Amino acid sequence: TDIQELLLSRIRDVADYPEPGVMFKDITPLLADPAAFTALTDTLAGIATATGATKIVGLEARGFILGAPVAVRAGLGFIPVRKAGKLPGATLRQAYDLEYGSAEIEVHAEDLTSGDRVLIVDDVLATGGTAEAAVHLIQRAGAEVAGLAVLMELGFLGARTRLGPTLAGAPLEALLQV
Ligand code: IMP
Repeated sequence: TDIQELLLSRIRDVADYPEPGVMFKDITPLLADPAAFTALTDTLAGIATATGATKIVGLEARGFILGAPVAVRAGLGFIPVRKAGKLPGATLRQAYDLEYGSAEIEVHAEDLTSGDRVLIVDDVLATGGTAEAAVHLIQRAGAEVAGLAVLMELGFLGARTRLGPTLAGAPLEALLQV
């Protein structure tokens, strides 16, 4: 579609970042273009409404930049899922494996309750490890995952297959596929 073409034209490929052999998808040109950023925000907000989400969870850090305006646009609250050690209140913490080593993410425990339906928003879905940990965090908080919405899915890394059982029928919406 025209919107997909616009979004794709504002994503920059950076070779060998953050390490040799990786082609990094840089969304900063998209953020700097108000027409593209607005189109992205409106499209994701439409997904939030369609999934019946009651809250938006954004994944640090670019999921904050995208998720916050989506929450405002859709009339929903925004909940940050942060790297461990950044949130001041009582948290739930979830560990997940990286290619080398592991990482942990956290959410404020009081931000999610059993009545919530949560749409997770992020920029790029790569291996799916971060999103999978976020789904577990939301479920442990007693909330339901309404779906996962990303700007771009790196399909060759197999996240969709990996996340299938975890999402258990909740939609995985990617506006662009690589
Ligand atoms: P995953 O856990 O392997 O799916 O990696 C996803 C996380 O890493 C997301 O939070 C993304 O923001 C980030 N990420 C991975 N690859 C890229 C990329 O090429 N561009 C921007 N962010 C990326």
